[in-house]
Amino acid sequence: MVFGGIEAGGTKIVCAVGNRSGEITSKKVIPTSAPEETLMEVKAFFSHFDLEALGVGSFGPVDLNKESDTYGTILNTPKTDWKNFDLLGRLKGDYQIPVYIDTDVNAACLGEYRYGAGKCVNSCLYITVGTGIGAGLVQDGYTFQGKIHPEMGHVMVPRHSDDSFAGCCPYHGNCLEGMASGPAIEKRHGNKGYLLSHDAAVWEIEAHYLAHAIVNYTLILSPERIILGGGVMKQEILYSLVREKVSKLLNSYVDVGNLNDFISAPALDDEQGVKGAITLAADR
Ligand code: ADP
Ligand code: ZN
Repeated sequence: MVFGGIEAGGTKIVCAVGNRSGEITSKKVIPTSAPEETLMEVKAFFSHFDLEALGVGSFGPVDLNKESDTYGTILNTPKTDWKNFDLLGRLKGDYQIPVYIDTDVNAACLGEYRYGAGKCVNSCLYITVGTGIGAGLVQDGYTFQGKIHPEMGHVMVPRHSDDSFAGCCPYHGNCLEGMASGPAIEKRHGNKGYLLSHDAAVWEIEAHYLAHAIVNYTLILSPERIILGGGVMKQEILYSLVREKVSKLLNSYVDVGNLNDFISAPALDDEQGVKGAITLAADR
């Protein structure tokens, strides 16, 4: 039996076909343009396969409330072509097979939970630090949605004493995403993150914000493992800085076990999203 997975991102859509063992047998990356154009290319790719079911990890916000009339619709996105687009309805119409939808970060978390850095634990949180910041949660094999879905990238974090940057979240200014996303680093320091590797102050400030958010997530959700991915985390120094700060902030109040395991890097080499999307289809 083969299953389809779609990781729908703001810049690219990754389509893949795979099985229950987490093996991907075919994959295609399609740039995200207007919905019609993009989904025609997606359909052309999947037309070569006899799929049992399809899973989608989508950029958001997306309505994940199964009781809602707009279940599976992309909501208030800055990508205006996709605003109010009924993604789930459209895919169900295109393929006539069961289609399951979740957030991109929940799908990535599920991929890591099943096949990657979270495969030895019962609960894990996956955080992506990239163009935006988001996090997904899996407990006992199920992703968490709540009413619509969590927006953990927009939590408030205390300002670093050496930081005067106002923040760049269009909704909240200085929320976590406004202070610690890739674009926030670029706006604060006037240079892209990958060109700032040797500037220790940049990563000290970055780790400060990530650590405060991680402490809050730990206290609220108590995950067994926290996996940090996304473009900004290519700065590997961040893992040790974040671990050190999380440890200091928690001050032994909660026992998170070995910190190197508790806060870890992803293991699926940028395929966690699409593998998680396939898992959504295969599991249900
Ligand atoms: P997206 O979030 O758009 O899906 P990424 O996870 O790759 O994509 O994140 C892109 C962001 O990560 C950009 O803001 C980019 O500047 C930043 N980034 C990418 N590589 C690095 C790096 N090596 N060091 C620091 N920042 C990086
Ligand atoms: Zn925000």
